[in-house]
Amino acid sequence: MRQAIDVARSTPPGDVPVGALVVDADGQLLATATNRREQDADPLAHAEVLALRQAVRALGDSWRLERCTLVVTLEPCAMCAGAALGARVGRIVFGAYEPRTGACGSVWDLPREAPLHKAEVRGGVLQPECEQLLRGFFEKLR
Ligand SMILES: [Zn+2]
Repeated sequence: MRQAIDVARSTPPGDVPVGALVVDADGQLLATATNRREQDADPLAHAEVLALRQAVRALGDSWRLERCTLVVTLEPCAMCAGAALGARVGRIVFGAYEPRTGACGSVWDLPREAPLHKAEVRGGVLQPECEQLLRGFFEKLR
């Protein structure tokens, strides 16, 4: 998660700072990405989606990330939780809870409710640091 926080710090200016990474079963880093929604003018350019896509490319032979873990500084939204489940990610680890859009326990709980592929979820990892990232960004906007 420390590394995901470092990644989040490189989010393009104007985008909400969120960092995601994917590691394989051996803890090897496959992908890192930031939120780029404003930068790319792309509603799908959340850090998680970009990291999942990059991880699949790094593996090269499959779209399945079965033994991989998605680590992200903010609780994934419904799109990203859906994308992670679609990619068969085994574990989702996130930092700050997102009470308005979170889909890993806050508003919805897609990884644990999914009938087909379920992912193990751990939230609140380095939560204060992850919340501070967001607070710093939104304070600058005011
Ligand atoms: Zn998302």
